Amino acid sequence: MDLASYADLVVELVNRTEPADDPLRDLDSLQRLLEIRPHLGGRVTRRDLDAMRDLRGALRAVFESAARGDADDAIERLNTLLIQHPVHPQLSGHDGQGWHLHLTEGGSVPDRYAAGAAMGLAVKISDEGLDRLGVCRADGCANVFFDTTANLSRRHCSERCSGRSNMAAYGAPSRENADPGNDSREGGQ
Ligand SMILES: [Zn+2]
Repeated sequence: MDLASYADLVVELVNRTEPADDPLRDLDSLQRLLEIRPHLGGRVTRRDLDAMRDLRGALRAVFESAARGDADDAIERLNTLLIQHPVHPQLSGHDGQGWHLHLTEGGSVPDRYAAGAAMGLAVKISDEGLDRLGVCRADGCANVFFDTTANLSRRHCSERCSGRSNMAAYGAPSRENADPGNDSREGGQ
């Protein structure tokens, strides 16, 4: 697993909030999330589930601060996570792969997940820039994403949300644009 790919742990946790798909719905769903990442597996408890929910909120907050241009806040939040959840690096050479670095070989399950997610995000930001972090602008969606476009033009988490927003913009007028009253230009008449 290369370091930046640990950032996938972030999106996987933050965006899956639909009840049917939520890996933090209960202990069984959390266990299933961790099973696909053998290095993160282990028995989980109710406390771990609470810790994962806190982690989800903390990771989302990094994206929200970055998306509204508050770089200081985003970085401070991420640095706090890095301090709270230090990585435990180990060289590993399983499954015929060459020696490679695992970051998350020690601590509780949420600690390992948090350490991997925060480190992945930190590597991503230092490689590609904080302005790559975005929050979907479609109504009713709050998914986060990494903008990989050359001109940082991505506004939505998915084609689906992008299509939905275009329809709202060019089809039915949105509420602000539809209401001609209460406009300051018409004041004093
Ligand atoms: Zn979306």
